[in-house]
Amino acid sequence: MTDLTARQAELAENLARVEERIRGACAAAGRSRDEVTLIVVTKTYPARDVRLLAELGVRHVAENRDQEAAAKADECAGTPVTWHFVGQLQTNKVRSVAGYADVIHSVDRTRLVNALSSAAAHQGRRLDCLVQVALDAESETAGGRGGAAPGSVAKLGDAVEAAQGLRLAGVMTVAPLTGPYAGRPSAAFERLREISTGLCTRHPAATMVSAGMSSDLEEAVAAGATHVRVGSAVLGERPRLG
Ligand SMILES: *Cc1c(COP(=O)(O)O)cnc(C)c1O
Repeated sequence: MTDLTARQAELAENLARVEERIRGACAAAGRSRDEVTLIVVTKTYPARDVRLLAELGVRHVAENRDQEAAAKADECAGTPVTWHFVGQLQTNKVRSVAGYADVIHSVDRTRLVNALSSAAAHQGRRLDCLVQVALDAESETAGGRGGAAPGSVAKLGDAVEAAQGLRLAGVMTVAPLTGPYAGRPSAAFERLREISTGLCTRHPAATMVSAGMSSDLEEAVAAGATHVRVGSAVLGERPRLG
């Protein structure tokens, strides 16, 4: 076997295992498998892996750093995947991100909404936006990994929905490592679901709930996630940064 086919076999096996987990979680929750979309987080892995994943049927990939993502998306031009941006986003990167990403999961402040809107309008693109909710602290200050306080979700949602070139798609969170939800992903994802329900009363089309990673996708599916973001369980453990 060449290295390429060995890698594809490894990815196929990992994907099958993740698929089995999603299927099991859907069954346990009484949900249909097609209510949950798998997004494979390809950060730190090469464009070659994105192409192999696409051949294996993956249609959604996510990245968290613009520089890496821009180069990878460029290398993968013509590959039938939708690019999701899930990292903290600086306004000076917005123009680049708007060039390749279709869905932005990390909208957490008004200034970013304005920058995304200008970039999308300028490039004639339409971006799906999720409000990232920080559950680290249920206070007015957002957590260290980005995200808006639960109390500012409605305001941000309104801003996205009113912005040219943007569509409000829903909410996203990362299970917190600190604060009242630390070590309690189920409780965090239930809280996200409540926030999603609140947002949907104002914006009925904003039904997307992005939650759950390799370690907690079952909890997320049980709590109503529509999209799970899975990296290491598909691609392998990433080398630790720093
Ligand atoms: C890296 C990352 C993931 C995937 O994490 P794994 O533990 O590798 O599955 C999901 N969401 C975000 C925002 C990430 O940065």
